[in-house]
Amino acid sequence: MPPEGVPETVGSALQRAMLRLRAGGSETARLDAELLLAHAIGADRTAVLAHPEVPLSPSMAERLEACVARRERGEPVAYIRGIKEFHGLAFTVDHRALIPRPESELLVEIGASRTAVALASAPRRTDADRFRIVDVGTGSGAVAVALAAVLRRRGFLPAVRILATDVSADALALAVENAVAHGLGEAIRFERTDLLPPDEPPADLLVANLPYVPSEDLPRLPVAASFEPALALDGGPDGLSVVRRLLAILPRALRPAGVALLEIGAGEAGALQDAVDGALPGWRLEFHDDLAGIPRVAELMPGAAR
Ligand code: GLN
Repeated sequence: MPPEGVPETVGSALQRAMLRLRAGGSETARLDAELLLAHAIGADRTAVLAHPEVPLSPSMAERLEACVARRERGEPVAYIRGIKEFHGLAFTVDHRALIPRPESELLVEIGASRTAVALASAPRRTDADRFRIVDVGTGSGAVAVALAAVLRRRGFLPAVRILATDVSADALALAVENAVAHGLGEAIRFERTDLLPPDEPPADLLVANLPYVPSEDLPRLPVAASFEPALALDGGPDGLSVVRRLLAILPRALRPAGVALLEIGAGEAGALQDAVDGALPGWRLEFHDDLAGIPRVAELMPGAAR
């Protein structure tokens, strides 16, 4: 609280929240404080910045206090706000699934572009003939929903079928909420399964952001990650255990002219190359860098088709 007799304003509350979070070790204290204050007063960040003189009611101050206390304990801002922007859309996020990361937007961009090219060269006419897309390990549903939203904007939605899977029933429930919130509840089929349903017909495009953090690195991740489900992060001894299980079923999961886009961790490109050489001889493999220049998405294509 400000000194006795001095009314709390948006500006003074912001300043104190920022100093507290900075003292607590947050490297993004100002941004965190702006987002949390905006959340506490039910406004957006620009309103907070534009109107520092507005008085803060005691109940708003109380809500801000609760948010700042959670952040001080290391909880990610996205979980406190319950929302994260991904590919220009707002997604509901909570402890049920990983918070979508900006790097994963690459899966959406490359996936949309591969879909557009395939549909332009071979339009799908019949229902059975539709372009099949699978998002394996959908988590919050961010990748599947953002991809479906792009395809809807470009008029491709009637030509595609989208399946999103997850082994976690909790994550899947969140993904359904996100699809419905974006008007895509009918466009995406959700299935609870490990990787893929056994009888699933092969896909034209498979995207996957599977857990890829080496188990021993988990305790070394920023404290915010300890609030996220370990199941969504833990990729086994070298980070690629789950990815390898997917590689093993790719030959039946992909059509001969299909494409798989797999997100991987920093420094994992070499190990992935070895895994592909071993499990999928003759397949083509290319890496796409994220904005930090790190090979982030592996693009895999069955060799024989090209
Ligand atoms: N990018 C996430 C992180 O480094 C990991 C996501 C994942 O395992 N798929 O925290």
